[in-house]
Amino acid sequence: MKKLLFTPGPLTTSRTVKEAMLEDVGSRDYVFVNAVKEIRSELLTLGHVSQAMGYETVLVQGSGTFGIESVISSAVGKQDVLLILANGAYGERIVKMAVIHQLQHQVLRFPESEIVTPEATINYLEAHPEITHVACIHSETTTGVFNPIGAIGAVCEQYNKVFIVDAMSSFGGVEMDIDALKIDYLVSSSNKCIEGVPGFAFVICKKAQLEKCKGQGRSLSLDLYDQWAGLEANGQFRFTPPTLSLLAFRQAMKELQAEGGVPAREKRYKTNKITLDTGMAELGFQQYLQPGIQGHIITSFLYPDSPNFNFERFYQKLNDRGLIIYPGKLGKTDAFRIGNIGQIFPDDVKRLVQAIKEVLEEEGVVMPKQEKQTV
Ligand SMILES: *Cc1c(COP(=O)(O)O)cnc(C)c1O
Repeated sequence: MKKLLFTPGPLTTSRTVKEAMLEDVGSRDYVFVNAVKEIRSELLTLGHVSQAMGYETVLVQGSGTFGIESVISSAVGKQDVLLILANGAYGERIVKMAVIHQLQHQVLRFPESEIVTPEATINYLEAHPEITHVACIHSETTTGVFNPIGAIGAVCEQYNKVFIVDAMSSFGGVEMDIDALKIDYLVSSSNKCIEGVPGFAFVICKKAQLEKCKGQGRSLSLDLYDQWAGLEANGQFRFTPPTLSLLAFRQAMKELQAEGGVPAREKRYKTNKITLDTGMAELGFQQYLQPGIQGHIITSFLYPDSPNFNFERFYQKLNDRGLIIYPGKLGKTDAFRIGNIGQIFPDDVKRLVQAIKEVLEEEGVVMPKQEKQTV
């Protein structure tokens, strides 16, 4: 059965993206080397930057976390101090990296139900002039909150801090002008909004920053500078590249263009989100976040207040219908998540909502009075 993934990644991909992986390719083959070159250059275009503007793309084998860890463990030097702005599990993951690599670091925490604020960041930086780097998550997949990276970027520029953004689950699904956002390092991966398959992360960053990473890496395979230098030297990866994932990604980038680029994809995801919000509100579900700070990538829904609701059974029955949702990851609140990204369309979202309705009925879960949501 064809499965639809309403998750934060890996996502539902098109048949043609998967078909791009049907032919073997050698890692030194010019067809492959060319694909890598195209991908690196096209990623800059998607971020509205260029080599002429001083930006570079580095591809890193592995999942998204490998890309973040490559940046964190390479960019923060011995004398540097990293400030991590955290309001969810992905911010905490960066804290873990800083601990493992024994970086000088500090953490400014915000509740999971709130955004990271520029005001608190300013206050913190004023009190801690030793900070050199600031890391922030854009779309915090823990909840679905969108942190105001434009405002945080402006603060980083004002205070002359290197700004590192985990835009994993948003890049390609949200228009981003990396230069205007004052981002020094942006990290995302092959299997999120560009709708490729898992295999690698990519880092779009300022060349001037990259050059400072030379000799600073704390791991051989995740050394960002060496990875870049390798790609620059002969267009090849230092170690075995995810060849087929890269070919799929190049196809996914073509399909993104054919859809109308990032603006069109953002529009589709937003339509998915509105369709989901409307349908779930009609069923009586409450969302975890206030609407003003909720992004259009993924939404956390509170468990229904009914003794008959059992998430494992709910998940399994949707799974049996080919519809895959995602468990929650919140500290104290019971919630599950539904993603709007990947090759899913408003009609798929309607199918999911209908299936949720049927499963609740089967399970005897009585929902509170149904609300009509005005969109
Ligand atoms: C998906 C995601 C990551 C990377 O997770 P992997 O499992 O390593 O791919 C990092 N940050 C955010 C916000 C994400 O959504």
